[in-house]
Amino acid sequence: MIRSIAYLCVLCLMTVFVQAQQIAYTVTPVQADSPYFKVELSYSGSHTDSLEFHLPAWTPGYYQLMHYAAAVRNMHAQDGTGHSLTCRRSGENSWRLYTRGNTVFTLQYEVRATRPFVAANFLAADRGFISPAGMFLYPAGGIGHPVKLTIHPAAGWTQVATGLEPVKGQAYSYTAASFDELYDSPILMGQLETLPSFEVDGKLHSFVAYQPGNFDKAAFMQDLQGIVSVAAAIMRDLPYKHYTFLGIGPGRGGIEHLNSTAVGFDGSQLDKREERIRLYHFLAHEYFHHYNVKRIRPIELGPFDYEHGSKTRLLWLSEGFTVYYEYLVVRRAGFTTREEVLQALQKNIHAYESKPGHLLQSVADASYNTWHDGPFGAGDSSISYYDKGPVLGAMLDLQIRHNTRNRYSLDDVMRALYREFYQQKGRGFTEAEFRATAEGIAGGSLAEWFDYVNTVKPPDYKRYFGYAGLDVDSNFAIRPRASMDTLQAAILKDWLR
Ligand SMILES: [Zn+2]
Repeated sequence: MIRSIAYLCVLCLMTVFVQAQQIAYTVTPVQADSPYFKVELSYSGSHTDSLEFHLPAWTPGYYQLMHYAAAVRNMHAQDGTGHSLTCRRSGENSWRLYTRGNTVFTLQYEVRATRPFVAANFLAADRGFISPAGMFLYPAGGIGHPVKLTIHPAAGWTQVATGLEPVKGQAYSYTAASFDELYDSPILMGQLETLPSFEVDGKLHSFVAYQPGNFDKAAFMQDLQGIVSVAAAIMRDLPYKHYTFLGIGPGRGGIEHLNSTAVGFDGSQLDKREERIRLYHFLAHEYFHHYNVKRIRPIELGPFDYEHGSKTRLLWLSEGFTVYYEYLVVRRAGFTTREEVLQALQKNIHAYESKPGHLLQSVADASYNTWHDGPFGAGDSSISYYDKGPVLGAMLDLQIRHNTRNRYSLDDVMRALYREFYQQKGRGFTEAEFRATAEGIAGGSLAEWFDYVNTVKPPDYKRYFGYAGLDVDSNFAIRPRASMDTLQAAILKDWLR
């Protein structure tokens, strides 16, 4: 008892110490021959002779080392009275600042911003984009520290958009509860356009974009509201105060975040059905990720290893099942037909079966090796979890529905993971915990299905799709059988409703 009181007091002191430190960043875009962001860190409450600062080497959601530190230059520091302090590179992604006993100091540096991409920093005359993991140094051991951020937009820029919480009464100032939150909140600024916003469950959903193109914006946002509503209805909870879609301009690629997503976006082709459906799938995917991977997550994906990357064998679940859910969400929102969902799955099976690597690499290994192989199964010995993952999602869904006479589905597994690990335990889950949850809801062993995850055993598509009265032909086309029993008909109807 005494020991625990003493321990609590130490914790109290540590809390007081940590809280006494103040970390505030200001960022100013600078147009020069090569555009860059000028970054200033104001730090007060330091109590050591030297402090090490790190820059992440990657950003969560994009499983590749980005080596952001290579774009940092002109690092220098001053004490509270403006005298220079020594700051030296101490590693590939780190710098050491010698405070000489000063409790207050500033650190200034520049970040080159030349790549218009959702995982990179970019700056042009009319807009800028910050991928925060690639811009803001964190003090060693201080990843959980609150941060204040102020942007100084260039003259003529109309807006700054981010999922960060604004500071009341201070223009372009925001707070993050921790560096993790800061790194999970990209920032778009410049001459931007705000599309008509909507609410779901009383929560504001905004879409702010650079050059989104000409299209019926009210109709588009109504459709997006339908997509968000369907996803929220599946999970039965909206875990954020507000959500922002950041359209960084025409181009491909998207990254999911806690209460925002940054997407390459051009709505000018929305009047063409095929392009509209592609975009709706893409946006549904990034949006559904705020559940699946941000909150329903493998245990390896948080706390993150910002230096080396966080490897997991579960991206077939975090990415693959998110592809599967983009099909279900867009279908349930009424934008696609049942046949289109089956065609999308056929394409996935075809892509997987066509890669020579499907006889060599399990999808769990593809997940772990993505840092090396890339996510799309390039070369002749790897596969993509974007191909096999959604197919496994459909097969697991159908197995659960079959086992439980259509009483439960994959939705119940996702909700159970969300409840138990995100809401109750505040952590990710292990492979064994995922399996226990899925088998608990399926009411029995899923050993064969897990073989498809962990080995290269050829999936028995016919049997699994047969649970919904579907046939799979030699070209992997999936079509309803001429006759099916009552359970199969009920599963098909409910599954692709
Ligand atoms: Zn994804």
